[in-house]
Amino acid sequence: MSTTPRVVIIGAGIVGANLADELSIRGWTNITVVEQGPLTLAGGSTSHAPGLVFQTNASKAMTQFASYTVDKLLSLSESGVSCFNQVGGLEVATTPERFEDLKRKLGYAASWGVEGRLIDPDECAKHYPLLNQEKVLGGLYVPSDGLASAARAVGLLIAKASAAGVTFRGSTPVTGIEQAGGKVTGVETPDGVIPADIVVSCAGFWGPRIGAMVGMSVPLLPLAHQYVKTTSVPELVDRNDASGLLDPSNGAWMPILRHQDKDLYYREHGDRMGIGSYAHKPMPVDLRELPEVAAADMSEHRMPSRLPFTEEDFLPCWEDSKELLPALAGARIADGFNGIFSFTPDGGPLVGESKDVDGFFVAEAVWVTHSAGVARALAERLIEGQSRIPLHECEVSRFEEIQTAESYVSETSQQNFVEIYDVLHPLQPRVSPRELRLSPFNARQKELGAFFLEAHGWERPHWFEANRGLLEVLPEEWRAPEREPWAAMFHSPISAAEAWKTRTAVALYDMTPLKRLEVSGPGAVNLLQRLSAGKVDKKPGAVTYCLLLNDDGGIRSDITVARLDETTFQVGANGNIDFDYFTTEARKQTAGDVTQWVQVRDITGSTCCVGLWGPLAREVIAKVSDDDFSNDGLKYFRTKQVRIGGVPVTAMRLSYVGELGWELYTTAENGQRLWDLLFEAGQEQGIIAAGRGAFNSLRLEKGYRLWGTDMTPEHEPFQAGLGFSVGKDKEGYIGAEALKDRRELPVHRRLRCLTVDDGTSVVLGKEPVYFRGEPSGYVTSAAYGYTVRKPIAYAWLPAEAGEGDAVEIEYFGKRIPATISADPLVDPTMEKLRG
Ligand SMILES: Cc1cc2nc3c(=O)[nH]c(=O)nc-3n(C[C@H](O)[C@H](O)[C@H](O)COP(=O)(O)OP(=O)(O)OC[C@H]3O[C@@H](n4cnc5c(N)ncnc54)[C@H](O)[C@@H]3O)c2cc1C
Repeated sequence: MSTTPRVVIIGAGIVGANLADELSIRGWTNITVVEQGPLTLAGGSTSHAPGLVFQTNASKAMTQFASYTVDKLLSLSESGVSCFNQVGGLEVATTPERFEDLKRKLGYAASWGVEGRLIDPDECAKHYPLLNQEKVLGGLYVPSDGLASAARAVGLLIAKASAAGVTFRGSTPVTGIEQAGGKVTGVETPDGVIPADIVVSCAGFWGPRIGAMVGMSVPLLPLAHQYVKTTSVPELVDRNDASGLLDPSNGAWMPILRHQDKDLYYREHGDRMGIGSYAHKPMPVDLRELPEVAAADMSEHRMPSRLPFTEEDFLPCWEDSKELLPALAGARIADGFNGIFSFTPDGGPLVGESKDVDGFFVAEAVWVTHSAGVARALAERLIEGQSRIPLHECEVSRFEEIQTAESYVSETSQQNFVEIYDVLHPLQPRVSPRELRLSPFNARQKELGAFFLEAHGWERPHWFEANRGLLEVLPEEWRAPEREPWAAMFHSPISAAEAWKTRTAVALYDMTPLKRLEVSGPGAVNLLQRLSAGKVDKKPGAVTYCLLLNDDGGIRSDITVARLDETTFQVGANGNIDFDYFTTEARKQTAGDVTQWVQVRDITGSTCCVGLWGPLAREVIAKVSDDDFSNDGLKYFRTKQVRIGGVPVTAMRLSYVGELGWELYTTAENGQRLWDLLFEAGQEQGIIAAGRGAFNSLRLEKGYRLWGTDMTPEHEPFQAGLGFSVGKDKEGYIGAEALKDRRELPVHRRLRCLTVDDGTSVVLGKEPVYFRGEPSGYVTSAAYGYTVRKPIAYAWLPAEAGEGDAVEIEYFGKRIPATISADPLVDPTMEKLRG
């Protein structure tokens, strides 16, 4: 008898079927897949998905998920016909802005290892003879893209997994989830309860309904999206299948095609053309209003995920399509529908476990494109505890509570639908909803003319117009060269003045939006010791920079741990995923041994933090506090309780910008007063408020890594230059086994600091880096270094690329020479920080 856990997967779409297969090929066979529709045609989004797979994405993980999906579907075949028709992918540009965007996209492809090239209109027409060449400025061609036969793949996966022992139950709706003691125990159906140790909801856009059965909010919005098939296109009739490779199930020869300037995409269906449109208004769908379709009536034209076609919404697209593909004039719209699938607040999938009910997982809002990749990653996580390709960008717990509100999910998901093919700058903020989370300093920041960008609902100043006057007195050596238009977006030269003031005088930085947790109780030290690679069992007053690792030694997060007293720690974390992790682990620890109980509270909103940093910071604080802020009074990486003008403050001697100073924490209601006291006291020292533009530049000069950007779970501490934070003699923490002896072993790649040779070209991140002429790595963070007077980029590169070596960064198709430099560029001996 199998000893593997009993798994119930809800939904036999492309995600559920792939997950059943990925689990069973890893030896888990005690699996039941429950599907409300008939297994032959379940009626979800997969049942009508046209299956275009464009692999290249700004996200490395999403691209890797897509590439695995391609490989897997290619290998999944019946009677010699695979489930992937590798016709290639072509994205055409009809505007100069789009053509520039395609250059950037080609950069992503090179960074993540997908082969592609930019081609001219002639070559576009060679690949796609139906194109109106005069409209096209060029295209991005990726030969390994193509068409998935999604519904057929589901059928083959069901057959394959069934043969391996997986049970599939069609026409069986899940009506409830049973749980006991905070764990799932089974899945309710009209035929009775199916016992389960693990339940994974792969219910696609029905996800929120299943999540509600365990009180979990699944932040996705079902939206309808138009797809039509034309009548026969004369030019497509009677073509010879000269290659003999044509997949009869999805009959296509030409590449899949995107015309993003008009929000359209195309594929062939034999001699008919299929056209998908995102050009219409968003059409949210209320699950209660889905068509009821009996199993016996389910067909290609009748299924719950298929709503009636609203032709008037499509007519402008038909005209646009005929302009791009004039041959369509010889055809008509034969058949259209408004098909439903999931959108989320940030466009990413939703994967992960409920924080309240152990064993309840979701894998939803996943495209066919990423389906096998996401399923494999989740299978690895269930079986091995973590996935090879990191899932953090898909983690369902990445959203803050305010971001899971129905109104927020609805508005942002609709906006994502509208913008799905837009050319978006990486810093471009959403226009609405805004002002969701405001730090207590917000009113003052507005008075100073803050330019805000948004993250996790927080308004974060990037620079202050009040500092514009400083540009007139800014010394020549602090002036930065003008940026090209793309890098100049959401940037102001004022950041140079703010960096100058921070390095030479003093500045206030609002650090409130950074996640803060209070970890307390007799088991607090044990929890933190077990979860982190650093030593936190120090005396109260110590602050420790620590890494949270996965079992394989990959970096799951980085945190600062301040021991406030014997049983209370304040943890600076990276976001809600960390909060969830700590909460879940604390709950398990407490349940395992009640004497080791530990409580985790998110105190971000109830507190605030200002960074007072700069060589004159001590002069400022001395005016408003009687506490001892001297080197001995509060050493580097120490914390103590102080009063600033009467305000109770937790002061920590830390600085992300690499200057003397403190992070000053107080409760929210005291925040504005604290800001006012410091700002007023610092006038004589020329204090300014400074924003994230300056901050990002200063932190890179100091070599401070940003988790999620510079390092992720696919990187190990010694590769990332963070070996110093791994306790030398520490044992028994998560990841310790994997890191054993690693310190002495050579690494095969490193995070490197690059400086740009021309002194002017600022890149933005994710660009490919060429070493010895070959694409060898990619940029993580980048900024202009005002102190060092050069653009800086951090990049992952093979270990053989050493300090002083020349590399090239590809930016908009141009190669920019850069040099690998010693890291950090500023204050390597820590004199400024410890001074
Ligand atoms: C018009 C259109 C075009 C698209 N084109 C593409 C494309 O070209 N490329 C691409 O990558 N993606 C495309 N997509 C998106 C893609 O179709 C979906 O993202 C994908 O199919 C989702 O797969 P899934 O398995 O998560 O969901 P589904 O296929 O919807 O499967 C979920 C299953 O769960 C079952 N279920 C739900 N509730 C219950 C319950 N209570 N009990 C039991 N079973 C339940 C449902 O019946 C369903 O079969 C398109 C979507 C649409 C609408």
